[in-house]
Amino acid sequence: MKNSIMKAGQGQGLFDCSGLTAYSGYFRDKNKLLASSSGGAAAVLSEAIIKEGGCVFGACYSSDFRSVEFACIERLEDLNRLKGSKYSDSVKRIFHDGKYTALWPYVSEKLSSGREVLFTGLGCDVAALRAFLRANHIDSANLFTVDLICYGPTLSGVHESFIDSLERKYNSRVKNFTVRYKKFGWVPPYVMAEFENGQEFCMKFYDSDYGKAFGLYARKVCYGCRFRGINHQSDITVGDYWGLRPEMSGYNPDGVSVLIIHNERGRELMDKINKDEFALMPADVSYIIQSNPMYYKPRGKPLDYEKFCGDLKRYGLHKALIIHDGGYLRIYAGKLARLIKSCARKILPSSLKRFIKRTFLHRN
Ligand SMILES: Cc1cc2nc3c(=O)[nH]c(=O)nc-3n(C[C@H](O)[C@H](O)[C@H](O)COP(=O)(O)OP(=O)(O)OC[C@H]3O[C@@H](n4cnc5c(N)ncnc54)[C@H](O)[C@@H]3O)c2cc1C
Ligand code: SF4
Repeated sequence: MKNSIMKAGQGQGLFDCSGLTAYSGYFRDKNKLLASSSGGAAAVLSEAIIKEGGCVFGACYSSDFRSVEFACIERLEDLNRLKGSKYSDSVKRIFHDGKYTALWPYVSEKLSSGREVLFTGLGCDVAALRAFLRANHIDSANLFTVDLICYGPTLSGVHESFIDSLERKYNSRVKNFTVRYKKFGWVPPYVMAEFENGQEFCMKFYDSDYGKAFGLYARKVCYGCRFRGINHQSDITVGDYWGLRPEMSGYNPDGVSVLIIHNERGRELMDKINKDEFALMPADVSYIIQSNPMYYKPRGKPLDYEKFCGDLKRYGLHKALIIHDGGYLRIYAGKLARLIKSCARKILPSSLKRFIKRTFLHRN
């Protein structure tokens, strides 16, 4: 069992990580590095398992890009589907043989076939899988698990509403979408959509409605997330090495991952990494965690959380964000002006309307 006392009197109350080991790393191949969100740690571990004849479960977009679900990948050329963080909660289903099937029984089936299985997901996904396997007495000897440091996916509805608004604006279906496009490298992330009609949308993620919502609001359950610190149930946790500065050794402007090892199974999985393809270095676990506190503590809930959820349902994403920014007046003033105009049109005599137009609106 790992040492888990919260050290008192150290600013934000640091997590004692003395029982953990950590590495940092990135793909040496620039194209592979650009396809992943941080340094490609999840992808390189997935490659290792597939090369040994195993299969990898991970999150992908549904074919219409409106939701996030899971896929079971068996060929290296299909791994791109899993790459890239999806900031929306996943549906625990998998599309197989032309129909949807429940995720956990499908993972169990693969485990029972005797092949190595790597499951990648968020902390609560790994915990749910382990609970399912325990409850159904399924042997997990062939299982490796990797979870992500997790800020929490944004509210359900945000992702779909954003895709809807893009498709309306560009009058075409989305055929590719990412919230971690490395336009000028790792930071800042861009949200990018490609459409069937050949057009493209691209802007800084945190300037977009999606990015603002992700930064501010998570699913309610995520504010009390238990799958952190000593409660990570994965063999390895991966994330972005946010604390790494350009002048520090091991930095890559196109992204660097952290890998935090929890147990012997994690060390076994680490040994499978091809170091010629992935630049792997030991890293200072306490420094990593200090600059990425989501490893051990959940985010705080904003004061206007319930109100924003109501506004999101009532007005949609864009208007709800304007209201959050204190833009009530812009919404209500517009409504009031339209109401006054339509009343005036009905009530005022034509001669007075003509006078107002000529005098104040300079129209004949
Ligand atoms: C909602 C969310 C919040 C995050 N918050 C933080 C944070 O606060 N700090 C931090 O350092 N890192 C965070 N991450 C992780 C980070 O964004 C990268 O996913 C991580 O660095 C791994 O990058 P990579 O290059 O190794 O993975 P890639 O090669 O890009 O592969 C991505 C992997 O993530 C998995 N994945 C992506 N989206 C989801 C999802 N919605 N549900 C389940 N699995 C998913 C895929 O299965 C795949 O294995 C978060 C990720 C998500 C999805
Ligand atoms: S914050 Fe916790 S509960 Fe929410 S998605 Fe991440 S791991 Fe799951």
